[in-house]
Amino acid sequence: AYFKDFHLSSPILKTLRDFKYEKPTEVQEKSIPLALEGRDLAISAVTGSGKTLAFLIPIFHHLQLRSRKQNSTRVLILTPTRELAKQCFDVSEKFSKYTDIDSVLIVGGKRVDVQANLLENKPEIVIATPGRILDHLLNTRSFGLDKIEMLVLDEADRLLSMGFEKVINRIVSECPKKKQTLLFSATMTDKVEDLTTISLNKPIRISI
Ligand code: AMP
Repeated sequence: AYFKDFHLSSPILKTLRDFKYEKPTEVQEKSIPLALEGRDLAISAVTGSGKTLAFLIPIFHHLQLRSRKQNSTRVLILTPTRELAKQCFDVSEKFSKYTDIDSVLIVGGKRVDVQANLLENKPEIVIATPGRILDHLLNTRSFGLDKIEMLVLDEADRLLSMGFEKVINRIVSECPKKKQTLLFSATMTDKVEDLTTISLNKPIRISI
C-alpha cells in the first residue's frame, strides 16, 4: 500500500512527501484506515514501528475534516516521558506547517505559568505527560478536557507501570464519553487490558 491510497488531505500528503515516506509501516497500514473511520483502537506496537504517525495522521485528518466549532482543545496525547512527548511534538509541528492547527507541549520541568498561558489560548492539540497535565486540569483556569474529540494513550504499559494509573483514570474521566480513543502499548498487560475495557468504546485490537 501507499499513503496516497488512504485519501488523506493534501497538507498531510505534503508533509509525508517532506519526510520522504511513501509507504506506511505495518502498524500504520493496519490502524490508519480504521482510525479514519472513527473506531477506538487498542494497538500493541513498540517504539520504532512508526506508531507516532499511526496516530498523528488520523488526528490531523480529523481536525482538518471537521473544522473548529468553538475555540477549544480537541485532542489530547498522553505519553509517559518528557522525551517521548517532545519527539511527538516535533513531528506534530511538521504537520502543522501546512495547516493552521496548533499543538503545545506540556511536560514537567518547564514553567507552569508559561504553560498556563499556552493552554488558555486553546491549542487544538495538547501533547503531555500525565502529572503536569493533571496539575493544569486542577489549577489552570479555563483549561478543561470537556471538548476533547480524540485521546491518545501512548505507551500505555509504561504510563501505568510508572504509577500514573489513578492520574490516567482521572484524566480520562474528565474527557467526554463520546470521543475516539487510540491506545498504544508494547505489551498488553492486565492493567492495560483493564484500562482498555474502562476507557475504550468497542475497541478493535491490532497486534503487530
Ligand atoms: P516511531 O515508532 O513513531 O517512534 O517511529 C520510528 C521511526 O520510523 C521514526 O524515525 C520515523 O521517522 C520512522 N517512520 C515512521 N513512519 C515511517 C514510514 N512510513 N516510512 C519510513 N519511516 C517511517
